[in-house]
Amino acid sequence: MTTGIVYDRAYLLHEQSPTHPERRERLAYTLDQLEEEGIWDFPGIVRLVPYPAPEEAVLAVHIPEYVGFLKEASRGGGFIDFDTSVPAGLWDAALLAAGGAMRAADAVIDKEAGNAFALVRPPGHHARMGTGAGFCYLNNMAVMVRHLQRRGVPKVLILDWDAHHGDGTQQIFYADPTVLFCSIHQSPFYPGSGMIDETGAGAGVGYTVNMPVPAGTGDDSYACLFREIIAPLAREFSPDFIAVSAGQDNHFTDPLTGLALTARGYADLMASTTDLASELCEGRLVAVLEGGYSVEGGLPYTNLGIIAAMAGLDLSGIREPSSLRGLLARAEDPSARYRVEEMAGALRARLAPFWQAFR
Ligand SMILES: [Zn+2]
Repeated sequence: MTTGIVYDRAYLLHEQSPTHPERRERLAYTLDQLEEEGIWDFPGIVRLVPYPAPEEAVLAVHIPEYVGFLKEASRGGGFIDFDTSVPAGLWDAALLAAGGAMRAADAVIDKEAGNAFALVRPPGHHARMGTGAGFCYLNNMAVMVRHLQRRGVPKVLILDWDAHHGDGTQQIFYADPTVLFCSIHQSPFYPGSGMIDETGAGAGVGYTVNMPVPAGTGDDSYACLFREIIAPLAREFSPDFIAVSAGQDNHFTDPLTGLALTARGYADLMASTTDLASELCEGRLVAVLEGGYSVEGGLPYTNLGIIAAMAGLDLSGIREPSSLRGLLARAEDPSARYRVEEMAGALRARLAPFWQAFR
């Protein structure tokens, strides 16, 4: 299987400030690691050059007033919220990130690659129809999904495993039964949403699935949620395409969050997702980078693990950065595991009216 990787040095240009967690080194270190491992020489890996998203693709998701604000603020600089300022030139950076996700989707639809990973910045999943938030400006994932649908792909499963709830993506598809949005995220935590009773609205009731997990949650619980919630839902939904909002801030070294996933845990999660895509939709799968702020100690390891899993490589060599937290992470907090199982039981009961799998 060929795995496409969308990457462009222009993704290193955007920066709110050199000390902001969402800074250019996030990708620079990953790129160094990929080069060090010789990933570009591997025959199963193809590098994809992104294009800027056309404005009409952005307007399929975001309201014209917000698009106008972003373009105007990008000229001299502007402000959205405490975490999210608009540096000059942001508009071009944001279009290239959304276009990078579209490029990944095109590659899979056109069979240029079996699956693809868009290594883009800035991230997108907190961006709503009418505003950016939480380091995000345009919702790259949503722009890509609408693009897929314009290209004749009716139903898309979004799996958002970023440590933060993908509130922007949820809002955009909340009443839409063509998109099944599933999110695993730390709770209570920013942005505060993503409870199990948020299940969608109108025709989209049942098509939003939230799995809030406590700090300390690690590999075993993620694997359990995949097996017991995500896989049965996906089989019943029967998507034409699987899209992953791949936030790498669940890694045990991440400075902003309290989760305990390992690089191997990420690789296993992606291997399960790749298997599910093979089973349900001819392997059609795209991952889009969201958060992840352990610049040196986490991102290079997790991104490599994900790419290895997508390309079907041997995962036994996936390395972990060494640290005390790492040793602890391998023995997941038992109270977190217990609370995840309790949440999963309550969630199944909440979803039973909408999904046979949980009756
Ligand atoms: Zn995040």
